[in-house]
Amino acid sequence: MLAALALLPSALANGQTSHQWISLMAIDHVPRGELADFLAQEGVHDALMNGTMFPDGGYAVGDDYGEMAHWEPTQDLYLDWIRANHPPPYDDVGARHVAFLLGMMSHGMADQFYDATFMERSKAWDPAESWACCSMDEATDVAYAAVQGPGIVPPKWWPEELLPIFVTNGHTVTYELVDRGQAFLGLAIAYVGAASEVDTTVERYTAEFPWACTHQDDPEVVGTPAHEAEFVAAYWQVIWDRLHGGDGWSSPVIGTQPEAGGWQVVLDHTNVDSRLAIVFARGLDPATVEAEGAITVATAGGVPSPVGVNVYYGWASHVVNIAPLEDWAVDTDYVITVHPGIHTYDSAGTVATAITVPFTTRAPPLADEPQDAPAQACGCAAGGSAAGTGLGFAATLTLLGLGRRRRPAA
Ligand SMILES: [Zn+2]
Repeated sequence: MLAALALLPSALANGQTSHQWISLMAIDHVPRGELADFLAQEGVHDALMNGTMFPDGGYAVGDDYGEMAHWEPTQDLYLDWIRANHPPPYDDVGARHVAFLLGMMSHGMADQFYDATFMERSKAWDPAESWACCSMDEATDVAYAAVQGPGIVPPKWWPEELLPIFVTNGHTVTYELVDRGQAFLGLAIAYVGAASEVDTTVERYTAEFPWACTHQDDPEVVGTPAHEAEFVAAYWQVIWDRLHGGDGWSSPVIGTQPEAGGWQVVLDHTNVDSRLAIVFARGLDPATVEAEGAITVATAGGVPSPVGVNVYYGWASHVVNIAPLEDWAVDTDYVITVHPGIHTYDSAGTVATAITVPFTTRAPPLADEPQDAPAQACGCAAGGSAAGTGLGFAATLTLLGLGRRRRPAA
């Protein structure tokens, strides 16, 4: 295997293996019910994996379809097509379309949350020079495969119905090119799996991004693959609701960091770990989120705390970073408020009533003490925990010298 792989560019690796693990771990976070039953079917697994991989195929062949496939403006058109052509209960070919869609949307959400949280920490704590020479996504993917296990290469399938959807969004791409992109992703998974079994290779990658490569399975770290899986599972429930005719907006916030009622232990506002994050159910119009007073933080007593609010990837993305402009006060209870008026990129959903998320800087309890968290007054859906074992969104695909272009953070 390695001899054959040696013929491939060394930059083949990417985040495909991490993405697969995120979707697999997300299945375990879906509460019992129709969606869990759907995901438990053996027949949908390959489509879920193919969809989870799919968006990065465009980077592999240097075509914009990949970037488009990461985001809801394209994904939503596919969702609408499934609703129109394959209504529940998905006892026909509709099942694999739904599974592929869930995979695509897992990928998009994972990429966003990973970059907004884990990658921002890597930027702070890994060698600055590594960002000029090396791919953090590639390095972390190999390191994660070494810890978690290699990915799998599913029988290649992707829905040709996406081709006219790309055209609707102003982009024409051929069947042959997309098919080649999907095939390359299988090669990437095989490469990463093989590389992850060679100690010196793992060590080389780890030396490039030592903090990132050694903290991906740390339950105390934000934005790891396992942590991401919690948010993907919450997002899948939104998608499932939308597939069944809902608006996916009954709980506009699907998760926060720290979780509602959780502990914010880093007070120093110059430390990236002092930031908060909110993840929304649908892609946002950032102008409505970053407007003055749209998201505020105050002490439980009502004293405002100055913060910077940033929709990490801008238009139609979900993850909002909240950075304190002054240190958090010690032993203090706080409340984040999401104010009415924030709406989705397509205005399909608007925050109608204020959503509050409490958190505290009081010392977290020791492991053997009963927890005494602030009251859970959050209007948000059950979502991410303070720090999981998340899997990240690792995605820069530098296959054949065509590096993945990250959408610039807004
Ligand atoms: Zn990606």
